[in-house]
Amino acid sequence: MDSVPGFEGGFPCCLEFRGSFYGRPVYQIVDPLPLVGHIAFGVIDRGTNVLQVRPTTVCQHSCIFCSVDAGPRSITRASEFIVEPRWLVRWAVEAARFKGGGVEALLDGVGEPLSHPQILSIIRGLKDSGYIARVAVETHGGFLSRRLALELEKAGLDRINLSVDAVDKGLARSLVGVEWYDVERILDTAAWILENTSIDVVLTPVVIPGFNELEVKALIEWARRRGARRKSGWPTGVLIQKYEVHKYGRKIRGVREWGWSRFYTWLRRLEREAKYRLIVEPEELGFEKRPSLEKPYRVGDKVKVIVVGPGWHWGETLAMDFKQYRVIAIVGDKDLKPSQKLSVVIVRDTDNIYVANA
Ligand code: SF4
Repeated sequence: MDSVPGFEGGFPCCLEFRGSFYGRPVYQIVDPLPLVGHIAFGVIDRGTNVLQVRPTTVCQHSCIFCSVDAGPRSITRASEFIVEPRWLVRWAVEAARFKGGGVEALLDGVGEPLSHPQILSIIRGLKDSGYIARVAVETHGGFLSRRLALELEKAGLDRINLSVDAVDKGLARSLVGVEWYDVERILDTAAWILENTSIDVVLTPVVIPGFNELEVKALIEWARRRGARRKSGWPTGVLIQKYEVHKYGRKIRGVREWGWSRFYTWLRRLEREAKYRLIVEPEELGFEKRPSLEKPYRVGDKVKVIVVGPGWHWGETLAMDFKQYRVIAIVGDKDLKPSQKLSVVIVRDTDNIYVANA
């Protein structure tokens, strides 16, 4: 399918059709669609000196535990988005300036940031702004190569958060869910990056009960041996993430998610056994509280919006407020048309991410 029913005629502004990805239309987001307000793209501010910068929703991996149901096998997504680089940099830099500069831009998201075709110009734009001190990228590493690493270094990338979940080739491949995933090649490339570039590498595996607890131990050994984290001056080179089940995410049959207390008990035991720091305070990573961006709307507010295109998930529609401050995801009405103006009621406003009912 190359367009979403109801939106075949294109859009008055904001979205340019760029092709399709496994049957889903891919739209490039352009000026003037605001880049604060949506969980899937743009800039997310959680009141610290770290801004999450989300350049794309597209992901070529297909992790069996993906909490955002990304990749070729997605069933919940109606559309994919990539963001026009200069527009993304403009919003990120404006947010960093508001926070007083010295900010980390973490390129992450509900897709694979390195798959954005202009990721190098995004990194360069962020780094050259003078307001962003560090640029990091969160990746599962499928596209990493020595050549790309040299280009990333030249563009100004400071750190790769490498989310590999196992050292065993077969297990890593089955967790990431695509045949071409080669964790040995990825870890070799990461070791080369640590040796030969100014980019740091930190491992960020997801621990899945019953699947890869032992593999995490091997990853800790890899980080220790290779000196992961040294260039950042962090006390650890391994930040373990907990497998979590989300409403729109993929669930592994038969696996029960750990609670936070069980997760931390496991981490503490692993720290003792491996003699390696795994639990760290945000301040030890250079993270600190900073003023949050202005929040123009609250839950319960009635806001006048204009419809700009199809939403990320089925049953969602993208809209922006008349002042063009925020992008808003409207849920619960599938018959909205491009350019339609209507009033919506905000039902979610956490971290300046807006969901509204029509
Ligand atoms: S977990 Fe990350 S890399 Fe894996 S499918 Fe989801 S978005 Fe892609």
